[in-house]
Amino acid sequence: MRGAVLYGPRDVRFEERETPKVIKPTDAIIRISATCVCGSDLWPYRGIQPVAQPTPMGHEYCGIVEEVGSAVKSVKPGQFVIGSFFASDNTCPICQIGYQSSCQHAEFVGTAQAPVLRVPLADGTLVPTPEVPSQDLIPNLLTLSDVMGTGWFAADAANVKPGSTAAVVGDGAVGLLAVLSAKQMGAERIIVMSRHESRQKLAREFGATDIVTERGDEGVERIKQLTNGIGADSVLECVGTQQSIMQAIQSTCRGGYVGYVGVPHGVELNGEQLFFAHVHLHGGPAPVRRYLPELIKLVWDRKINPGKVFDMTLPLDQVAQAYRAMDERRAIKTLLRP
Ligand SMILES: [Zn+2]
Ligand SMILES: [Zn+2]
Repeated sequence: MRGAVLYGPRDVRFEERETPKVIKPTDAIIRISATCVCGSDLWPYRGIQPVAQPTPMGHEYCGIVEEVGSAVKSVKPGQFVIGSFFASDNTCPICQIGYQSSCQHAEFVGTAQAPVLRVPLADGTLVPTPEVPSQDLIPNLLTLSDVMGTGWFAADAANVKPGSTAAVVGDGAVGLLAVLSAKQMGAERIIVMSRHESRQKLAREFGATDIVTERGDEGVERIKQLTNGIGADSVLECVGTQQSIMQAIQSTCRGGYVGYVGVPHGVELNGEQLFFAHVHLHGGPAPVRRYLPELIKLVWDRKINPGKVFDMTLPLDQVAQAYRAMDERRAIKTLLRP
C-alpha cells in the first residue's frame, strides 16, 4: 500500500509502506474510509518539532474492520468503527476514571494517512457505529477521532454549564468545535477570538455570539468589556502558545475554569501570575475514548455537524497538497479519501 511519510520540513511524500497486519492478538486491522491532516501535524511539518527519520503520519481515522486478532471480542469484521489517536485498554484504573489518553498501556496511533491501519488494543479503543453509516455522515464521524473529542474535552474541562459564558481562544478546527461543544453544553454567551472571516462565519454557525479580533492584552481587555469587567466563566484554550495560554488565564473570571487542549510549545507559566489568577486549570491530551459513545449518538441522530470544519477534500494520494493548504491557512482542515 501507499501512505504519507514525513521526511522533514515541508516534505511529505506519498510512498510505498508495508501493509499493516495483525501483530498482537488484541489488534484490529481497519480499511480507512476517511482520514485527515491535523493542526498538530503542522508542528513537525513546519520543522518546529524536529523529525529524526522518515515518519509515517496520521492519527485521525474511521473505517471498516477487516480483520481482528484472536483475543478481540467487542469488534468484528464488517463493522464501521472510530477510535482515538491513543489506543487504550479501557480497563486499567486510569481508563476507569476516564483518562484513556493516559491509559497505563496507551499506544499512539500514528500511521492513519494510509488505506489500511493497525489499531492496537482494539476492544478498548474502537467504538462501532450502530450500522455502516451513509457517506454524508463520514466527515462528522471522522472528527470524533480527535478534533471534536478534543473540543468537547476543552468545554468539559472548562466546566461549561447551561447559561454560562464561555470564551474560546483559537479558531482552528479544535477551537471551532470547542464553540460547538460549548453551545451543546448550554453556554448562553460564546465569545470566540478569531481574525479570519471564513472561520468567524463558521464559529457563528456553531453558536458563537461574539467575535474578538484583538490578541494579547487587548484581547483580554475586550473579553473583560464583554463580561461586566470580570472575565468569562469558562475559557477554552485551543492553541498552545505562550500568548494564547496567558490570554486564556487572564480572560477567566476569579473562580472560573480554563480548559486547555492546545499542545503547548515553549509555554512557561509564572507562579505568581498563576497564584493571583484564582482559576481552575484542567487540560491535556483529550480522553476522546470517554466521549465516543455520546458523540457518536449526537452525530447519528443528526444533532451536530462537526464535519463542517472540513472545507477541503482531496484523494489520499494528494496528501502533500493537503498539508500545504493547511500550512498556508487556505484550508481549516483537509479530509483525505483513500
Ligand atoms: Zn489530531
Ligand atoms: Zn487503560
